[in-house]
This record gives sequence, C-alpha cells and structure tokens, in this order.
Amino acid sequence: MVSRVIPVDSFDLVIFGGTGDLARRKILPGLFRRYASGQMPDEGRIIGAARSDMTCDEFRTMVKEAVEEFDPKSAKDTENLSKFLDRVFYVAVDAKGDGGWKELGELLRPDMIRAFYFSVAPSLFGAIAERLKTFDLADDDSRIVVEKPFGKDLETARALNRSLAEHFLESQIYRIDHYLGKETVQNLMAVRFGNMLFEPLWNSQYVDHIQITVAETVGVGGRGGYYDTSGAMRDMVQNHLMQLLCLIAMEPPAKFDPDAVRDEKLKVIRALDPVEPHHIVRGQYAASDKTASYREDVENPRSFTESFVAMRCAISNWRWAGTPFYLRTGKRLKARTSEIAVVFKDAPHSIFGAEAGVHRNVLSIRLQPNEGMTLGVTIKEPGPGGMRLVDVPLDMSFAEALGPDAEEVPDAYERLIMDVIRGNQTLFMRGDEVEAAWAWTDPIINGWSNRNDVPKPYDTGSAGPDDALMLMHRDGRRWREIKE
Ligand code: NAP
Repeated sequence: MVSRVIPVDSFDLVIFGGTGDLARRKILPGLFRRYASGQMPDEGRIIGAARSDMTCDEFRTMVKEAVEEFDPKSAKDTENLSKFLDRVFYVAVDAKGDGGWKELGELLRPDMIRAFYFSVAPSLFGAIAERLKTFDLADDDSRIVVEKPFGKDLETARALNRSLAEHFLESQIYRIDHYLGKETVQNLMAVRFGNMLFEPLWNSQYVDHIQITVAETVGVGGRGGYYDTSGAMRDMVQNHLMQLLCLIAMEPPAKFDPDAVRDEKLKVIRALDPVEPHHIVRGQYAASDKTASYREDVENPRSFTESFVAMRCAISNWRWAGTPFYLRTGKRLKARTSEIAVVFKDAPHSIFGAEAGVHRNVLSIRLQPNEGMTLGVTIKEPGPGGMRLVDVPLDMSFAEALGPDAEEVPDAYERLIMDVIRGNQTLFMRGDEVEAAWAWTDPIINGWSNRNDVPKPYDTGSAGPDDALMLMHRDGRRWREIKE
C-alpha cells in the first residue's frame, strides 16, 4: 500500500510558548515529521514566540535538540532536519506586554495562511487574542489553536470562550483535544459509518454496555501543582473520555463535515443523565515500595483530589436508553492502555446447552498502545470432543494490516496541526461542546466538595479502588482487564 501525503498550502505558524514543554515534546518534533514526509511545503514557516531573549539560531538549536531528544529516530534524517531548521524562526514576545509584537508583525508574510498556536497557560489566551488584533496580525482567515485545559468549570470556560470570541470567529478557533487526532478515533467513525455491518447493531437492543478506559502507569510527575487543582475528572473525563463517548454514541452525521459531526456530538452530551453519587468512585494512589503516594507527589498531605475516577453514565435517547456507559481513568494503574470496548448482548438462546458457557462478542477499539481493533467472535474449539465453544479475536492491528505504512501514521498532534492549516475543524471541539461538557461535569465535582467526599486509596499497579470493581459487580458486569 502506498501512503498518500497531500501537501498543505504554505503557512506561517506562530507557536506562543515555543520554548515550553509541549512545544518541545510534541509540536516541534511533529512538525518536523510532517516536513520530512513532504506534507509541509518548503515555504511553510514556524515562528517560536516566548518571553525568553533568544536569537533565531539559539531557537533552532533548541528545536534540533528537542527533535533529537523526543524523536531520535526521525532526527537521524539530518539532511531534512537541517532544511527544516531553515524554516524555523524566533521572536521574543510578551503576551501581557507590548514588547515583540511589532517585530512579529514584520516577520509574518502577507498572503500566507496564518496560524497562531497558544501553547501557553490559558490565563494568557485572552491577552494574546487581543494583541493579535491590536497589532493587526490576524485577519478573518487566520486561525488560533488553543490547548487544554479549556476552563476549570462552566463559568471559566464561558469566560474563555467570550474572550476569544471578542476577537475571533468560532470558525477560526481550534480547541485541541489530541485524543481526537488519534488514528483509531477516526477509524471508529470509518468503521461505524463506512460499513453496513456494525451500525444496525449499534444500539441498546444489541449492545449490553460500553466501557471506556484510559489507564496510565505514571503518577502526576512534575505536574503536581496543576494536577492537584484539577484531578482526573477535569484533566481526563471532561475532555478526552467525553469526546470518546460522543464519537461512540453519536448518531450518524449527514456528512463528514465539521459542524455536522460536532452537532451530533453535542446532542450526546446534552442527553447525558446527571450521574448519581453511588454511580461514581474516586480514588487516590497509595505509595508503593518504589513510588510515592499521590499526596506525597503533590506535596499536599490533606489533598482530596482524585487521581482515579470510575463512573456509570446513562444517555437518555432512543438509541441508548438502557445501555450503560462505564468510564474509568486513573494514574499509577496496572498498565498504560486506552480502550473502548463495545460489549454486545448474549445470544437470546444457546442451542449448544449450558455446558457451552456464556460467550459474548466484544468490539475492542485500542487507542494505545498498538492502535487497532479486535472483534471477539465465538467459534468451535478445534478438535474432537463435541461442541465446545471458544472466543477468538478477529484482530485488525494497523501495524499488521497496513504493514510499513502503519508506522507512517502521523501522531495526533501532527495530524491536528495539518488540519488547522487545511482549515478543517472536524476534529476540534466547538465552544458549545466544551460548555455542555462542563455543564455535565460541574454538578459532579461540586457534589464531591459539598459532601466533603474523600477519594478511596488504591494500590499502585492495581485496577483502582475495590469500589470501582463493585460499581460493575453490582450490575452483574465486570471491567475488562487493564493490560497493554
Ligand atoms: P510550559 O513548559 O510552562 O511552557 C510555557 C511557555 O509559555 C514557555 O515557552 C514560556 O516561555 C511561555 N510563556 C510564559 N509566559 C509568557 C508570556 N507572558 N508571554 C509569552 N510567552 C510566555 O508549559 P507547557 O507544558 O508547554 O504547556 C503549555 C500549554 O499546553 C498549557 O496550557 C498546558 O496546560 C497545555 N498542555 C500541556 C501539555 C504538556 O504535555 N506539556 C499537555 C496538554 C496540554 P517564557 O518563559 O520564555 O516566556
């Protein structure tokens, strides 16, 4: 199979926060890969912007070191890396002051697509948006890309939306949720809406329940200060898990177009029932022999912030009434894995008798590691000895099915940045979606603080607190194993 790389139009991409962690780990190495693949045109330019006083050459050295550190394999292509670095520039700009903006304006070229990536703290979003307009750096065709967290509740998300809307149209605002840029997430839509096979079964008549798991083995790391004011609910559920839930549950949009898709996602969020307190479990990881506890990590011995959350959600609409959605995410769990599992109902009657056991079809959609899908089907166990049934996977691992091309699949950030340049908002969150997600999340978080809810401790390397297992057991179901 030959991969098709369609070059995007020429652009000037300004990365505010170009010297920061996200830029160095994800954005800049990702842009280099797009350049090396031939997708980024020779006239494309990347302009780092931050307060640090640096020359272009110093910034280029920083970019080179970032690519070498975070993508050593791609960095071996030294010829392309050197050409890419020629496309990189730097301007010292203070988001909150007037210094540097004039110089940035002089560097930007007319008649090019202009994109401004806000890879800075959200408290700077409004100031940057305002100055882009004050200094006449952005027109109606310019795009801005904003990072998460997009607010910490409905009120702050609304305020952020308002401050961006003062200067930019919704069609210019790209709110990034990198989960939406993952290959499997888009494949989920391809599988659902490109095949006749699944959609007729995609409802409460045939689907027993759906599980969405995003498990990490790492703790809060160096992000303790931020994380302790956020927690798993704000950091993961309100955005990433919610987006996955929307894509799995939404009605088929009339076409694959940004607003058609986002309208359908919004309807899912609005159809979510409030979550009852007994349908949600919070946890905090305890210390192990080798690792510190959550409270030690965040240096807050009285922290009540959750590093784990599991919940049972219900969508009140015709398609999903009666099919629960179980969501869980946490840190310091058994394995690093992200999976959506669609668990189908049992066959209404087993012609093979009770001894054949209970067998269920499960469609497992893996986001990481090893992006791919597996459909569990029941077959006869080979060999003599009567009709014994066994579940086997019909496996579609991208790496195997697509061969070497699968390795060329761009990572989420690369794909999303190219979508910004192409002007395609399908995989970005719209303002009303983000607000609806907060409107659903806020009462849950407020309920915890009103009840002085204390998260349950759980062992590092486990599947979370026992209460999370009980959440499923009470319903006669069980979580899928957390494994890589
Ligand atoms: P970071 O490492 O702290 O970097 C912040 C960047 O902003 C630096 O380049 C800093 O450079 C610049 N900056 C700070 N104040 C500025 C000002 N007044 N004017 C202009 N530039 C300024 O943060 P980060 O981890 O890269 O995160 C950036 C954003 O992405 C945040 O919103 C974060 O929540 C989000 N995010 C990060 C990650 C991640 O993995 N890191 C993941 C998801 C989302 P100077 O100090 O030189 O100005």
